[in-house]
Amino acid sequence: MKTKDDLLSIVGYLEDSSNFKNGKANKVYIPENEDEVIEILKYCCKEKIPVTISAAGTGNVAGRIPTEGVILSTESLNKIIKIDSKNKIAVLQSGVVVNDFLKEIEKINLFYPPFPTERNAFIGGNIATNASGEYSFRFGPTRNYIKRIRLILSSGKVLDIKRGELFEKEGFLDYGIFKIKMPSYRTPDVKCSAGYYIKDKMDTIDLIIGSEGTLGVITEVELSLIDKLPERFIIIIFFDKDEDIPEIISKIKEQKDKLNIFSLEFFDKNSLEFLKEEYNFVVGQNCAIYIEADKEKIYLLDEILEKINYKDTVISESFSDYKKLIDFRYKLPENINSYFKKIGSIKIAIDASVPQEKFAQLYNFYKKIQKENLNLQTVIFGHIGENHLHFNLFPRNELQKELAEKIYVESIKKAVSLGGSGFAEHGVGKTKNKYLELMYGKEGVLEMAKIKKVFDPQCILSLDNIFPMNYLNFV
Ligand SMILES: Cc1cc2nc3c(=O)[nH]c(=O)nc-3n(C[C@H](O)[C@H](O)[C@H](O)COP(=O)(O)OP(=O)(O)OC[C@H]3O[C@@H](n4cnc5c(N)ncnc54)[C@H](O)[C@@H]3O)c2cc1C
Repeated sequence: MKTKDDLLSIVGYLEDSSNFKNGKANKVYIPENEDEVIEILKYCCKEKIPVTISAAGTGNVAGRIPTEGVILSTESLNKIIKIDSKNKIAVLQSGVVVNDFLKEIEKINLFYPPFPTERNAFIGGNIATNASGEYSFRFGPTRNYIKRIRLILSSGKVLDIKRGELFEKEGFLDYGIFKIKMPSYRTPDVKCSAGYYIKDKMDTIDLIIGSEGTLGVITEVELSLIDKLPERFIIIIFFDKDEDIPEIISKIKEQKDKLNIFSLEFFDKNSLEFLKEEYNFVVGQNCAIYIEADKEKIYLLDEILEKINYKDTVISESFSDYKKLIDFRYKLPENINSYFKKIGSIKIAIDASVPQEKFAQLYNFYKKIQKENLNLQTVIFGHIGENHLHFNLFPRNELQKELAEKIYVESIKKAVSLGGSGFAEHGVGKTKNKYLELMYGKEGVLEMAKIKKVFDPQCILSLDNIFPMNYLNFV
């Protein structure tokens, strides 16, 4: 097994896509097989050394960054064990880079539907955060495609959990070597990556998905695949008024299956400002809806367009147009982040989702805040098809920072009051852990701490992820 203990090598593991600055570790273990994972965990458990699990470090909430102890990096657990094209399944070690895997299955005309936006991530990181992707509107998040997980507990014991075998029964989740009493909270029926997943009659595998490294080390997974996607086209539709967007979205969603829509996104006026250098067709536009759909169904597009009052459209006529418009989505977060880094502003990212019928209320809430606080720079964009928008705030001074934090808390409360989630994707990690109570109350979060203690009684794994580690002292 490889290890690293010089400061220079460790520093690279103390960052991800968040701006978390308090990372600290004594050593990095890089196991090359499952036996070595077990060996490290048994040793750390005996010595009570905190272990934080690290994958590719593309996470947004500092989940892989420890504040003490050691790091267990899955980077050498990177074998694609099997791709079974007949049954459309694949078995991978958890450190496989998603992009490498996608390239392999593309060769045999198969596709992995979660298609995460950041494809440098590892498959294990995706499972631990229940990552969503470009086509989540059509296919849902990672959870839906995970058939089996091998999870190594901090004690070194191995759980091999298969989907479809064990479900919640009489208030318990049975993992063979222990049972988990169902807590009182439930995960809402919306896009969600907020703490441990709990639903009535749930499959036991689903608790592990989205558990952000706090329950065990995922070493191996079985995924389900589908046939490669049909050729697609993109249309960007511009509107003069943004008040009607929720209604327009409802009309477009009615055509989801008919048009075979894969992706449905939104860009407000402030977002479009960040794209005008590369895409001059956005100049003077007020807001836009972006649709990616099956090229064979393009002849049905007029059915949508005649139902909505739009101003302009841009459509991909060729494959090179398509490629250019695909980048339209990527460019925005990239341009936003580099601009605000340059001017030294922080980003407060609201990432809430709500049920479809409540979407207009959340949208109007965001728009009202925007109008009432014109001095505070904001953008609203993202996954409108999933009733999930990114509402990013960029405070420029202490006063604005206070205001932005107040808006953050109020927005989570609003989403939760509408039956939604304050954390639709990315997880909670360390940067948002103090806010999880806004969604589940103190009692709910303490129930999560109790679950962790059953899986990890010595409390050494990925501490401070999901909830502050002092919660573990109260259960
Ligand atoms: C440009 C960009 C775009 C992004 N877009 C999206 C998006 O659209 N949707 C989305 O959901 N996310 C998105 N992300 C966030 C990020 O890519 C995901 O959270 C991803 O799943 C993290 O994977 P990783 O391999 O980088 O994990 P890391 O950041 O290394 O770790 C993430 C968490 O997983 C845990 N973990 C990792 N491996 C294991 C394992 N084997 N066993 C147990 N726990 C483990 C870690 O402890 C940590 O808590 C984006 C990030 C970037 C930079």
